[in-house]
Amino acid sequence: MEHAEILHRCFRCGYCKLPGSYQDLNCPSYLQYRFETYSPGGRMWLLRAWLDEEIPTSARLQEILFSCTACGNCVEHCVFPKFKADVLNAITAGRGELVNEGSVPRRVSDFFKAIHLYGNPYKLPEADRGAWAKGLGLEPYRGQEYLFFAGCAGSYDERGRKMARAVAGLLQDRGVSFGILGALERCDGNEVRAMGEAGLFEEIARHNIAKFLDAGVVKIITLSPHAYHAIRNYYPRFNGIFQVLHYSQVLARMMSKGKDQGADTPLTVTFHDPCYLGRHNQDYLTPRMVLAALPGVELAEMDRARVDALCCGGGGGNFFTDLLGSGPDSSSRVRVREAAATGAQVLAVACPKCAKMLEDAVKAEALESALRVMDLAELVQARSV
Ligand code: SF4
Ligand code: SF4
Repeated sequence: MEHAEILHRCFRCGYCKLPGSYQDLNCPSYLQYRFETYSPGGRMWLLRAWLDEEIPTSARLQEILFSCTACGNCVEHCVFPKFKADVLNAITAGRGELVNEGSVPRRVSDFFKAIHLYGNPYKLPEADRGAWAKGLGLEPYRGQEYLFFAGCAGSYDERGRKMARAVAGLLQDRGVSFGILGALERCDGNEVRAMGEAGLFEEIARHNIAKFLDAGVVKIITLSPHAYHAIRNYYPRFNGIFQVLHYSQVLARMMSKGKDQGADTPLTVTFHDPCYLGRHNQDYLTPRMVLAALPGVELAEMDRARVDALCCGGGGGNFFTDLLGSGPDSSSRVRVREAAATGAQVLAVACPKCAKMLEDAVKAEALESALRVMDLAELVQARSV
C-alpha cells in the first residue's frame, strides 16, 4: 500500500485529532464516536494491523475508514514534520486497498455505481445538468474568458442550485465574461478520489479535461471548493492544466476597489472555512476580504477558524454516504452551536456542501430564529444596491 511506511512511524500521540489550542476535538469522526480507532492515529494503527493480517476485513473496519471526512485537520496538526503531509494520503490509500478488494460499505459502492452510471451521485440524468441555470439567460461556453463549473451539488441539490444561481447572477451583474457546459459537464470526482477509487477518478478527470479542451477552456471558476481542489491539484496529473479560481476569489477581485455599495445596516457575520479552500489550499484570506468589503458587516470569528476550523462533516464522501451519522455530537451540529455562540446573525459559507450540512444542523438545533446560513454570493447580493 502507498504510504504504508508511515503507519509504522505514527505512535498515536493524538495531537492530530485536536485544533492548535488542544482544547477541542477537531477530527469529526472522533468527535462523533469518541473511540480511538475513529481518530487519525487510531486509523493508522488499525490499517497497520489489517495490513499485517492481525485483524480481518470487517464491516466495522470499512465503516471506520470511510467515515473520515478528509478534512485535513490531521495533516495540519500532526506533530511529525517528516510525515505529516501524508497522514491523510495514508488513510486514502487504505480506502483504496479496500476498494481494490471490493470490501467497502454498501453506501460507498452505491455512490461509485451512481457516478459510473449517471455521472453524478444523485442518479439524475446528465441531460438535466444545466437545469439549475433555467431563466438566468446564461450562455453555453463558447470561448468566453471563464467556464463556470457548477458541479454536482450546484447542478442537482436544491440548496446548491440556489447558490449556483446566486454566484452566476453576481458574475452576470458585474460583467464577468463566462459560459457554462451544462450537460457536457460531469462530476469533478474529488470525493471519488478521496474515497480511494483512483481508477474511476482518472476516468472522470479525463472526461472533463477532454470536454474542457474541446471547448477551448483556459480559465475555470468553480462553485465548490471540492471541484477547485480536484481540478487545480489533480487534473494536471492527466495533462489538464487550467487556471482555476474558486468563486470567492473572483468576488474578492470584483470588490477589491473598496467597500461595496448597498445596505449598511449593521450585520454580524461569522465565517465557516471550507476544508478544501482552507486547509487543503491555504486560502483563508479571500472569503474574509469579501466580507470586509461589505458595508455594515462585522466579522465575529469562531474559536475554531482558519487552520483550526471544524469540518461540517460533509467531506470525504460523507455528504452522500452519511457514514459519519447524525446526532448532537455530529460536527455540523457542534459547528452551528459554535457559530451561534459568537452572537452572529449570519453563518457565512463558501461551499454548497457546507451550506446544506450547516443549514440542516441549524434546523436540528432549532436555531433558525437566531442564525441564518448564507453563502458569500447570497450575502453580497443581499447587501448590494
Ligand atoms: S498522525 Fe501524527 S499526531 Fe497523529 S497520532 Fe500519529 S504521530 Fe501523533
Ligand atoms: S482527515 Fe479529518 S476526519 Fe479524517 S482522520 Fe484526519 S482529522 Fe479525522
